[in-house]
Amino acid sequence: MQISSIVGKAVNIELTQPLKVTFGEIKSIESLIIKITTDTGLVGYGEACPFEPVTGESIETEQAALNAMAKTIVGEDPFCIERLHSLMDSQTVGHTALKAGIDIALYDLLGKATGLPVYKLLGGNDNQVHTDITISIGEPRKMANEAVDYVSRGFSALKVKAGIDQESDEEAISEILNAVGDKAMVKVDANQGWNAKQTIRILNKFQNTQLQIVEQPLPYWQHEENKVIRNAITQDLMLDESVHAPSDAYTVISNGEADIVNIKLMKSAGIYGAEGINKVAEAAGVRCMIGCMAETRLGICAAVHFAAAHQNVAFCDLDSFLMFKEPDWLTGGFTNEGGLLTLSDKPGLGLDITI
Ligand SMILES: [Mg+2]
Repeated sequence: MQISSIVGKAVNIELTQPLKVTFGEIKSIESLIIKITTDTGLVGYGEACPFEPVTGESIETEQAALNAMAKTIVGEDPFCIERLHSLMDSQTVGHTALKAGIDIALYDLLGKATGLPVYKLLGGNDNQVHTDITISIGEPRKMANEAVDYVSRGFSALKVKAGIDQESDEEAISEILNAVGDKAMVKVDANQGWNAKQTIRILNKFQNTQLQIVEQPLPYWQHEENKVIRNAITQDLMLDESVHAPSDAYTVISNGEADIVNIKLMKSAGIYGAEGINKVAEAAGVRCMIGCMAETRLGICAAVHFAAAHQNVAFCDLDSFLMFKEPDWLTGGFTNEGGLLTLSDKPGLGLDITI
């Protein structure tokens, strides 16, 4: 089988309500849907969701890089995924979200050609995962009300965004913990917005509570202080922006900086890189979470397949699709009931896509 064409289509998806994080306020998202067609007529779909603060890509830079990369990829065998990553990497450094979109389409094709869902190709540990749900930064009382609402809708893990104003962060965490009691596990994601002293003080204040994980408190380049934090708190430290590739996972884990690593397909250049990060982490006794940028159901579905396939991917933060007015050209792949996501057993990603 040979790749006969690869195209990217930009789509705009509206959020049901705006999301506030340290990077700003998000009202709608733009993403690039990748379509790979083969000489047999088989088609694979992927998603390259750009997020400039983390991977430096925009729809425009993705499209320009895709135009250049298409010349290298067309004519290649889509099943030779390592070879294709090597070709992409030797042509251009970075561009991990674009590479993820291409990678996801290749796994979709591989599954469709073999008649297997992607999670079975990757290890097939299970066909279900539990995702947390994100509580956007807002007025603490409102955040606590949202938390209660999510718990009543079947979510047992909450991810609380923080990092803009510490006083307000502390108040929000406190209100949320009081409101949900023992009904949900709570993570706090400071998105690089705290320093080590602030992190230690805040986490120690909430010792022995349902606040069990702190995610990326420090700027991504600050490595040594992660160890200081780990030694001073009882909760687990998870790194997100500090880890893009398997080599980053190796660095932070061998330095003793992380209890958990947050993999995102858009950072790891897709499933192939995510596999590498998870293996490095698992070998060191470090668990993984899989998170997301603002992918549609397409990118999320690929992440669910990856997470379900592996025991060491112990946590999922795959909730972006729940915040969108989902388009009718993209359906299926998995069902969701509260935080429980169950994959379809259809070949490939199992999605129905009509663009
Ligand atoms: Mg994060």
